[in-house]
Amino acid sequence: MSQDWDAGRLDSDLEGAAFDTLAVRAGQLRTPEGEHGEPLFFTSSYVFRTAADAAARFAGEVPGNVYSRYTNPTVRAFEERIAALEGAEQAVATASGMSAILAMVMALCSAGDHVLVSRSVFGSTISLFEKYLKRFGIQVDYPPLADVAGWQAACKPNTKLFFVESPSNPLAELVDIAALAEVAHANGALLAVDNCFCTPALQQPLKLGADIIIHSATKYIDGQGRCLGGVVAGRKAQMQEVVGFLRTAGPTLSPFNAWVFLKGLETLRIRMQAHSAGAQALAEWLEQQPGIEKVYYAGLPSHPQHELAKRQQTGFGAVVSFEVKGGKQGAWRFIDATRMISITTNLGDTKTTIAHPATTSHGRLTPAERAQAGIADNLVRVAVGLEEVADIKADLARGLAAL
Ligand SMILES: *Cc1c(COP(=O)(O)O)cnc(C)c1O
Repeated sequence: MSQDWDAGRLDSDLEGAAFDTLAVRAGQLRTPEGEHGEPLFFTSSYVFRTAADAAARFAGEVPGNVYSRYTNPTVRAFEERIAALEGAEQAVATASGMSAILAMVMALCSAGDHVLVSRSVFGSTISLFEKYLKRFGIQVDYPPLADVAGWQAACKPNTKLFFVESPSNPLAELVDIAALAEVAHANGALLAVDNCFCTPALQQPLKLGADIIIHSATKYIDGQGRCLGGVVAGRKAQMQEVVGFLRTAGPTLSPFNAWVFLKGLETLRIRMQAHSAGAQALAEWLEQQPGIEKVYYAGLPSHPQHELAKRQQTGFGAVVSFEVKGGKQGAWRFIDATRMISITTNLGDTKTTIAHPATTSHGRLTPAERAQAGIADNLVRVAVGLEEVADIKADLARGLAAL
């Protein structure tokens, strides 16, 4: 609560508030101006009342802002709102999703530590571990996402961290997060989940036993394709290490982007439900089309992990992938025949996007690596936006007609 304003109330009491209420209100601390919307603090530094005040703040003896690489009130409001939604003790915002992953590893791992990363993670995540972190003495192995026994078998005495994306991109494969958390903990490791595809609106991995959440806020937290940002969330002890790294190394979140994300969070659940409903309708329809060989969507009863998805998620998300007849040429013809959907590999937007993973996001893998990741040449990925479903369907029907 901020200070008395004529002995009245400026802030909301959120004790016991539900997800949708927290999404709209958590983290906001009103200034004495009494603004209703979240204020945007565009400042790199802060003034002190006296030289002694400056000294005390620098020494950490009194709380207060010093410099926006350390703290910024708009960024803090975003961090507190995300922490409330994920059920985390603390959330730390970063400049991008990739800097969230980097900050987590730099804060929690040292040379000689071993990390297990699920095989089918975001391409830049693989490059970060393979090209850079390995150079600094971090050992990395890549077990298949869903095979919990395989994770146990891959553990070594120095295994410090498990890192997964569930559901995976683009094939919507899942891991049983509660079971994997048990394996991680039995081996003295932490489990980090990149919750980018579900967001806390559809899945809360900390409640399933995971220790750390990673977000690319660039995707559904923004939800409208405007800003880059990221989050690391979890227990205070580990998050303080992440804060320490960020303050020193600097990939902190811009207050402007934090403000945009605060607005994004206010509509997160209704957007994720609408994305999921559209994706479900399109996945069911695609499964009936003769030009489609296979559809990957965890909301379909034909998905091998449909029951697990129902257990650990409250929705199945926006991403639908499918294999078309006619190999790579068929996939390209399908994509090129669309007239509305955006041809782009990005996702997490109100605008529906379509991409050919084998020649874009997964194009640098060898054919053998692609086969192992299950990325066929005829695979098309659609991230369903918020347009009228009938219009998206009509556009995909142009693709089908071109096969
Ligand atoms: C986009 C993405 C990232 C990287 O996030 P940026 O904000 O682009 O740095 C990490 N993980 C997943 C699953 C993503 O989709």
